[in-house]
Amino acid sequence: MASFNFSTWPPQLTPEQLEALTLAATTYALSHGLLYLPPSQSPSNTQPRIPTTAIHAPLSLVPAPFPRAQFQAARGLQSVYNVLYARIAMDTQFLDTVMGAEEGVGKADEFTGTLWRGWKKIREHGMLPLHLGLFRSDYLLHAAEDRLALKQVEFNTISSSFGPLSERVAAMHRNLLASTSYFSASPHLIAEKFPENSTTSGLVEGLAKAHEAYGVRDARILFVVQPNERNVFDQRWLEYELLEKHQIHVVRQTLADLAVSALLDPSTHALTLTLPSTNPSPYEISTIYFRASYTPSDFPSPSYYDTRFLLERSRAIKCPSLPLQLAGGKKVQEALTRPGVLERFLSNEGAKWGAQALDLTAHAADIRATWMGMWALDSEDADIVAALDHLPAGQENVPPGTRLARLKAPSLVLKPQREGGGNNVYREAIPAFLDALPAEEREAWIAMEMIETPRGVSGYLVRASPSSSGTDNGGTEKKVVRTEVISELGIFGYALFGGGEVVEREVGWLVRTKGTESNEGGVAAGFSVLDSVVLV
Ligand code: ADP
Ligand code: MG
Ligand code: MG
Repeated sequence: MASFNFSTWPPQLTPEQLEALTLAATTYALSHGLLYLPPSQSPSNTQPRIPTTAIHAPLSLVPAPFPRAQFQAARGLQSVYNVLYARIAMDTQFLDTVMGAEEGVGKADEFTGTLWRGWKKIREHGMLPLHLGLFRSDYLLHAAEDRLALKQVEFNTISSSFGPLSERVAAMHRNLLASTSYFSASPHLIAEKFPENSTTSGLVEGLAKAHEAYGVRDARILFVVQPNERNVFDQRWLEYELLEKHQIHVVRQTLADLAVSALLDPSTHALTLTLPSTNPSPYEISTIYFRASYTPSDFPSPSYYDTRFLLERSRAIKCPSLPLQLAGGKKVQEALTRPGVLERFLSNEGAKWGAQALDLTAHAADIRATWMGMWALDSEDADIVAALDHLPAGQENVPPGTRLARLKAPSLVLKPQREGGGNNVYREAIPAFLDALPAEEREAWIAMEMIETPRGVSGYLVRASPSSSGTDNGGTEKKVVRTEVISELGIFGYALFGGGEVVEREVGWLVRTKGTESNEGGVAAGFSVLDSVVLV
């Protein structure tokens, strides 16, 4: 076990200190754009076009302890992951087998199947522009056999959010360190244990490189956004940095907006947007950054898929392309754990599509060491069957993968092919869930061993009270909760690929902290708060 005693965290605060620190933190957040739009009051659940108020993002008062070695290891692995997922996105045959609607998970999952079918049709017509990934690989600490191991929760290839806001939380903690006496209360609360965070410029570097590769200076970057998005400031900070540091303009549009504004030139495949209210002549789009279209509710009718596929057919660089979005599926994460699969992707041979002769197989063991056990509910693999040796008879019609999930339910989470939080089934809820799950939907789910995080660490979580969202009567209610917590580390990276080499970099990090009473994470889904680290 690391020498740091997690159960001593955080240092004790008196009510007066707590109040002073909360005031300093929330004021800093409001002053520095560490913000959210308030929950919508309109019945249609759409934000007003011109917002008049904002609230501070949910945040943690004291940074979360994280071992320096594991923090650095996670950052060090990111470049391997960047290349790995680029190669997966380029491997059509692999994605067809794992995610496709004919032989893969797309059979059992309508959303995945629809995206895959759209991609299949498009790729038959040629067009191979570059792909851009802005990734986030998420980890928890796993307390196993007397030591702490870094374990991956998931790898996100679409709409990986909170880069800019996490940078601002880290800056907030650094400010509190300098400005409040509380932060001298622990020998761990010193500047050299607060790592730098410059995620915004790193993510923007990826977008700017894609724009440059497209090669039309005056083209714009399109952000595809959700109509009811509350996390707009996280997106706007990327937009401001693109304009201020790279002189690149951004256009924000929902899929519904694009159904009207988007036009594809049939011969050049250039994507242009006609926005008469802001500009008389159409904008050409260099890069399409999706902060929407990762969940079925982004597609309330089939025409929304038509719009998504029109964007895919363009020669603009998609972040992500459909194959790169599919590569981020939980089923791919599981398929990689099967014998030899990761090793093939990391080997030089696995990268036949590219000129880059980079053999990463030396890193395979380090990557595998970050994985928990995973399998498919419809699995009939020999190792799953072997693990079932002693199971009583009577479930012969149930696939071994499902039987093993039932047997090991207390230490498992089941995941469908979904993003954005709130979709998983945990531990004790698994048996009843399996009872109700139609046989033909089993293939859409994977089973994953639970990461058992160190217990006893607490945090102070601060959320803006709902009343602060409109009228000015906030501040009198109790905003801070001291509770036992789990902190999830995310490492950001980008990869621009498809032209024979992968241009990639690790670009920063994020910490989200949640109360242990919640299985889920997810700031946007309302389960966690934004945090940073103190390296111990
Ligand atoms: P999503 O794509 O919806 O974010 P995740 O795989 O990240 O799905 O799962 C959501 C949350 O569930 C994670 O942030 C984490 O808190 C929790 N979780 C997921 N997998 C595990 C696991 N194997 N062990 C412990 N917690 C997990
Ligand atoms: Mg997640
Ligand atoms: Mg995810």
